[in-house]
Amino acid sequence: MNHSQNLKYQALVGMSKTQLESFAVSLGEQSYRGRQLFDWLYHQKKDTIDEMTDLPARFRNQVKNSAIVHPLIQVAQSDSGSKRTKKFLFQLQNGNQIESVLMKDGSRNTICLSTQVGCAVNCDFCATATMGFVQNLSIGEIVDQFLQLKKLSFGPINNVVFMGMGEPLLNYKNVIAAADLLHDPDGINMGSKRITISTAGIISKIKQFSIEAHKYKLAISLNASNQEQRIRIMPISATQPLDELISVARNYTLENKTRVTFEYVLMKDINEKIEDAQRLLVMLSSINCKLNVIPYNKTGRDYVRPKDENIQSFLSILEKAPFPVTVRWSKGVEIDAGCGQLVTRTK
Ligand code: SAH
Repeated sequence: MNHSQNLKYQALVGMSKTQLESFAVSLGEQSYRGRQLFDWLYHQKKDTIDEMTDLPARFRNQVKNSAIVHPLIQVAQSDSGSKRTKKFLFQLQNGNQIESVLMKDGSRNTICLSTQVGCAVNCDFCATATMGFVQNLSIGEIVDQFLQLKKLSFGPINNVVFMGMGEPLLNYKNVIAAADLLHDPDGINMGSKRITISTAGIISKIKQFSIEAHKYKLAISLNASNQEQRIRIMPISATQPLDELISVARNYTLENKTRVTFEYVLMKDINEKIEDAQRLLVMLSSINCKLNVIPYNKTGRDYVRPKDENIQSFLSILEKAPFPVTVRWSKGVEIDAGCGQLVTRTK
């Protein structure tokens, strides 16, 4: 089936086992044909229906006449100088575009997925925020980024992070369903702890995630050491206050007997002081957590990365922390593929 600018075709990638079973039945086949489709799409990762050789020719034709495999079309790729980070631009059927990133670190491969076109959260330091909110991605549009990037990576994918464009927890249903598809042992089979969902801190949704006891890892973008500071750079803190966020994060770790990751984008003159590190130490010490410090990446917005020596002094205070502290030197900043640098034009 041909893609068209005006018509939206049903895509197979994104459908669950049950949906594929019903799809097969709707074409007059038995439901196990749907499970075969599931295997071809997510386990064997085939791109065309003709490669699905154990399906009868008649059924293959029917499928081709009523659906396409991939909901996304890759329209561009940029490689970092070292070639270890690759950024991909995909187009949705309605013409809107998203970016996804493939990162190689030694033998480890990580895929960073977008969950929305644009973002409503409006963090003042993030490039995606300049787009405003455009739309949620469907389950298929999220999972298809993985399938297409996986094809282009050398070696297995060790981690999937929902840290691209958008706020995952404001597209909760589709994000969880996409994670479930990535995790399904009959399909893509990513371990649940290899899937990380990152949020700017939507309190009610963190509660829901906690109650539903999903096994995926949760990361929270903290980015500030007190409410006053946070509200200036993350206006969402007005309705999602820091003390409540911290308490809901603590409850999540207790109820699910798991660890939470806090991300902290380090910005000059904003949140880089010794006192900030000291406040973090106090705020996070009683929580089963990990702190991931991300030196700010350039976005054309009014912020700068602290001097190396200030980053070092900040980290030295945290050496006393009872929780692990890591630094994420974002990869691919030269091609704007680092954290907070993803942005596309909308149609
Ligand atoms: N909206 C979600 C998912 C995006 S993840 C969230 O906020 O968690 C993107 C990560 O990059 C977040 O931790 C965010 O705080 C961080 N980030 C945003 N802008 C950045 C920048 N300019 N430099 C470094 N990190 C940035």
